[in-house]
Amino acid sequence: MASRNQELFDQSLKLIPGGVNSPVRAFKSVGGTPLFITRGHGATVWDADGKAYTDYVGSWGPLILGHAHPDVVAAAQRAAVDGLSFGAPTVGELEMARLLCQLLPSLQQVRLVSSGTEATMSAIRLARGFTGRKLILKFAGCYHGHADSLLVKAGSGALTLGQPDSAGVPPETAALTLVLEFNDSEALERIFNKCGEEIAAVIVEPVAGNMNLVKPKTGFLQLLRRVCTQHGAVLIFDEVMTGFRVALDGAQGLYGIAPDLTTLGKVIGGGMPLGAFGGRKDIMQRIVPLGPVYQAGTLSGNPLAVAVGLATLRLVQAPGFYEKLSKAAQMLCDGLSLAARKHHVAFSAQAVGGMFGIYFRQAPPQNYSEVTQCNAFLFNQFFHAMLRKGVYFAPSPFEAGFVSAAHGDQEIAATVAAAENVFSTL
Ligand code: PMP
Repeated sequence: MASRNQELFDQSLKLIPGGVNSPVRAFKSVGGTPLFITRGHGATVWDADGKAYTDYVGSWGPLILGHAHPDVVAAAQRAAVDGLSFGAPTVGELEMARLLCQLLPSLQQVRLVSSGTEATMSAIRLARGFTGRKLILKFAGCYHGHADSLLVKAGSGALTLGQPDSAGVPPETAALTLVLEFNDSEALERIFNKCGEEIAAVIVEPVAGNMNLVKPKTGFLQLLRRVCTQHGAVLIFDEVMTGFRVALDGAQGLYGIAPDLTTLGKVIGGGMPLGAFGGRKDIMQRIVPLGPVYQAGTLSGNPLAVAVGLATLRLVQAPGFYEKLSKAAQMLCDGLSLAARKHHVAFSAQAVGGMFGIYFRQAPPQNYSEVTQCNAFLFNQFFHAMLRKGVYFAPSPFEAGFVSAAHGDQEIAATVAAAENVFSTL
């Protein structure tokens, strides 16, 4: 009997390009049929065939409390009753702005948008408008959403499909984006010495999570801060993934760096479409209606999204929240590594806060080139075997994984036991 997932996917293929509304959902990298998810609760999701999975995707990061947390659901219901959108200022937006600026001290002002892509695209335009410069610098394998100038050697779905550069991006646009290897301090100094006065902004995922997970080497982010300050370039930390994920004060708190601008998304919306960009007041004041840099949005600061985001951010401020989250991610990484070692599988894993990377490689990679050296064949075998055992990892070797507050010792121990069994067959 054909599975319901397969039936639904076949129908979707006729009406939606590739059957999906975002490419990595299509399972292209691992092969097979994507799961149609019908509901989620805590750390578990159910597919259209009624099979349950322990979920390490978490909607690609936002669901830090797990699925359908009762406080979050109640906040959504309360907000919906009062109206879905007004296109006028609301108290919730003010509360959200106050909270973001309080929790991330590098934010003096912040503007809300509806996605991570909008946040990064707007931050780039703002940096160019502020500096009057054209060039931007990014790192290979870092993904910053799908705005034209950022789709150059991008990670995530762009990597999964083996298309680091998208058709439809004019070469003239791509030429304004400089790309270096992540963690390459020498190349960074070299390029700033060569054309530092022409660089409007450096945008970086401070912990890269769109080429699997790559940690910044000691001193790399500090060097970024120093060269940007020296040459008058705007330093943008893209914390769409790491914000409220690696720590309450983000990667900027964890590594002790104050960027000029920060982009946010995912966790701040708790599963609703919400993004933000903020930072230095002198830069933020260049945006309309105060300044000449245009930026707008019909649904920006949407009341429902803000209510869900606020309910989520209220809960992550509980004492010990990130300690517990980090412990869960670490327990998973340690358990998987030990199980792999027992069965002589070349494997490593590491976590930063509530995000983690698993690599079919002896040691964690330090840049995009090393990520591509991981054994993709073994990853695919592992992914599908785990899926059959009811564990849902990201369907690509180029994505980070996520735990939530709902992932307890029991869920993690069960995942590790399943993995040990799978490793023994690889
Ligand atoms: N920046 C980073 C670091 C991301 O991980 C993502 C999405 N995975 C984005 C930007 C784009 O966000 P969105 O998908 O909400 O447009």
